[in-house]
Amino acid sequence: MIDTTTALELVLKHGTLNTDFFEVDLKDALDYVVAKDVVSRIDMPPFRQSAMDGYALHVHDDFTYTVVGEVQAGDHNDPTLRKGEAVRIFTGAPVPTSANTVVMQERVTLDGNKIIVEGSPKVNMNIRPKAEQIKAGGIAIHKGTTIKGGHIGFLASLGLTKITVSKKPSVAIVVTGNELVAPGMPLSYGEIYESNGAMLRAVLNELGYKNTSVVTIRDDYDTTKNVLSDTLGKYDVVVVTGGVSVGDYDFVGKAFKAIGVQEIFYKVKQKPGKPLFFGKKEETSIFGLPGNPAAALSCFYIYVYPLLKKYEGAEHMNLPTISLPLLSDYTVKGTQAQFLKARIEGAGVRILGGQSSAMVQAFGDANALVCLPVNSMEIKKGQNVKTLLLPTK
Ligand code: AMP
Ligand code: MG
Repeated sequence: MIDTTTALELVLKHGTLNTDFFEVDLKDALDYVVAKDVVSRIDMPPFRQSAMDGYALHVHDDFTYTVVGEVQAGDHNDPTLRKGEAVRIFTGAPVPTSANTVVMQERVTLDGNKIIVEGSPKVNMNIRPKAEQIKAGGIAIHKGTTIKGGHIGFLASLGLTKITVSKKPSVAIVVTGNELVAPGMPLSYGEIYESNGAMLRAVLNELGYKNTSVVTIRDDYDTTKNVLSDTLGKYDVVVVTGGVSVGDYDFVGKAFKAIGVQEIFYKVKQKPGKPLFFGKKEETSIFGLPGNPAAALSCFYIYVYPLLKKYEGAEHMNLPTISLPLLSDYTVKGTQAQFLKARIEGAGVRILGGQSSAMVQAFGDANALVCLPVNSMEIKKGQNVKTLLLPTK
C-alpha cells in the first residue's frame, strides 16, 4: 500500500498531457485552460481616462478656473485648455492632452461658468494613465491559466473574441453494483438508489467537463470486462465506482487485468478511499474509485481532478492547500491519512458531522477537505491543519 503523496505523484506522473489545441469564442471559454499566452493587441486603457466626475484642468497658481466645455465618456474631442481654463469631465472620458489633473466635483465650488478649487490639486490625480493595465504586446493571460469570469472580462476589455485553449478530456463514469436502482424507479428490499453517476457527472459539469457519459453495470465479470473494454478506447479518462474491493463480487480489478490495463497503483493508506485503483491503457487513464459515495467524491477531488487539470496543461493541478486552525477538537478514528469533509468558517475550519464513507450529505456543506497525516490522534481546537480547498462554486 502506498501513501497519499506517492499516489498523487504517480497520478500526475502518468496522467496524459494533451497537446490538442483549438480556438474557442471568448463567450464559451469559461473553465478552459489557455494553451498559448494571450497577448494584448492594444494599450489598456487606450487613452488617458478620467477616473472621476469632475473637472480636467492644467494646474496653475490660482484656485479659480473658467469652464470652457465638456468631455463625456465616449466623446472623441480633445479640447485645448489655456491657462486658467477647465472642462467638465465624466468618469471614463478622455482627459484632454492639455490637462494634467482631474479635480473631483465634490472638491470645487461652482460660480456661474467658473469653479473655485479647494486646495491645490495634485498633478495626475484621478487620471488613469494610458496602458496602465497592459501595453500592446504584453501578456494578458499566461499559458496554463484556467479561464474564470474575471479573465473573460479582462480579455473582452482588450477587444479579444477568441483564445487558444486545450481540449478537455472526455470522461466515462462506469458505476457497478447489483443493488443499484435508478432514482425514480421503485426500490425493492436490498436495493439502494444509484447516486455516484449523477454526482460525478454534476461535479464534472460544474468544473467545465461536459463530455461525459454514465453507465450502470451489474456485478458480473463478463459484463464488466466487455463494458470497460468498449469504454477504454472511446474516452480519455474512465472512472469506475464500486467493485474495486476484495469481495467475491468485485470484478473490476480482474476485468482491468484481462483487458490489459496497466496497474500504476492499487490501495492507498487513506480514509476514505483505501481501495483506490489507478491505471493506464495507452493514453487512457483509468480510476477505480470505492463505491461508497462520499469516498468516491473525496477520491475524485483529490486524485481525478488533478489528473484532468494535467491533461489540459493547467499550471495549478492540485487542490489549493492552506493551513487553518481547527474550530473544535477532533478525535481521529484509524491510523491512515484522513480526508475529512469540512467547512471553512471565518478564520478557521470546522470538520463536519457524518464522516462515514457512505454518507455524502456533508458534501452539501463542505467547501474543503481537512487532510490529517497518518497516526493523527487527538487534534485540539486551535491546532493548525492542512486544508484542501474544493473547487466548488
Ligand atoms: P463497493 O465498493 O462496490 O463494495 O460498494 C461499497 C458501498 O457503496 C456499498 O454499500 C454499495 O452499495 C455502495 N455503492 C456502490 N456504488 C454505489 C452507487 N453508484 N451509488 C450509491 N451507492 C453505491
Ligand atoms: Mg459493489
